[in-house]
Amino acid sequence: MTNIVLSNLVAGIEPSPTEETSFLANTLKRQGVDVISFAQGEPDFDTPNYIKKAAIKAINEGFTKYTDVGGIIELKEAVVEKLKRQNNLEYDISGVIIGNGGKQLLYEAFATLCNPGDEVLIPTPCYVSYADQIRLTGARAVFVPTTEENEFVPCLEDVQKLWNPKVKVFVINSPCNPTGAVFPQEETRRIMDFLVENKTFVITDEVYEYLLYDGAKHISPAALDPKYKQWCIVVNSLSKTYAMTGWRIGYAAGPKEIINGMNSLQGHLTGNVNSIAQKAAAEALLGPQDDIARMVEEYAKRKDYMVNRINSIEGLSCIEPKGAFYVFANVKNLFGRTYNGNKLENDKDVANFFLKAAHVAVVPGIAFAYEGYVRFVFAKSLGTIKEGLDRIEKAIGELT
Ligand code: GLU
Repeated sequence: MTNIVLSNLVAGIEPSPTEETSFLANTLKRQGVDVISFAQGEPDFDTPNYIKKAAIKAINEGFTKYTDVGGIIELKEAVVEKLKRQNNLEYDISGVIIGNGGKQLLYEAFATLCNPGDEVLIPTPCYVSYADQIRLTGARAVFVPTTEENEFVPCLEDVQKLWNPKVKVFVINSPCNPTGAVFPQEETRRIMDFLVENKTFVITDEVYEYLLYDGAKHISPAALDPKYKQWCIVVNSLSKTYAMTGWRIGYAAGPKEIINGMNSLQGHLTGNVNSIAQKAAAEALLGPQDDIARMVEEYAKRKDYMVNRINSIEGLSCIEPKGAFYVFANVKNLFGRTYNGNKLENDKDVANFFLKAAHVAVVPGIAFAYEGYVRFVFAKSLGTIKEGLDRIEKAIGELT
């Protein structure tokens, strides 16, 4: 037998925990187990019709060939228009790139900015892929833990404690996955002033910018002060806003030297994004935007139900998310209890227990570099959320 040894690069990363948990839930479903999955963050709505029609038109017109690596001009212009309209940010198309989802662009941005030995500061809890993407560049992710008491918002003093001359990049993800925190403008400004003074780039991941509740507002950190923009790489995606997860469309905007670097890298990795999806994306950005409000209104109802319900279940608690579609629930009160003779010792045990005893999939906090919590997705129907939480409540009631 061949002794297969993977490269240090790939052996050094873990499979994406959200993709992995979702795969596990889907595999169980295929085996006939009635699993409810609150694992992967994706809208349960269908892609709006006007977007689908643009894709069908593109196919019928034979728009099915390679495009420029960084995207078709029509879509880049739509992105420029959207950034002006929605974010009050002015770019020209040389400062914009289209990628295969936000995830690819995040990696390209890290890889374009970081050398081995550099550091990237990330407030935690944080999105599951940042640390491994950074590891792939040879740089090191350094976590800046936030607290539940402070609603998972980072503060300048904590950033200052960890900043050092090796820090090349800081990551802002607001609204935040997995906490739903929306970072207040004042604190973001204080942090941005410090970073810009210290010539630190900021990757601002804004994929949940439209999913806001109870009056919360999103302002891109790049737009808070004219001096910030040249230090920012704004990363965004159509997946969550337009229920287009499977289409794989994201975009980034930033200084053109950086965008050019990302473009070169993308040219060797994937080439252009699917030509048909690009046409659909241009239509999504320029067409009627009413579907977003309709979806957000639904998410808000589900959020209210999920938060109230989680707080009513003994052993679980959560704060109210202000954005995105996640609840980051504290499960520490379940530690020490026993399921089938096995003691629950950490959030991974709790997630396993939910899956085994209640057939409900959630992602453990450790996947977000933050222990003691599990993440629930509320982009599910109210009926599904109710059923999932009923099952969890029952299973917790049976713990000893
Ligand atoms: N599943 C996607 C991802 O891992 C969406 C986001 C999420 O579930 O956190 O990139």
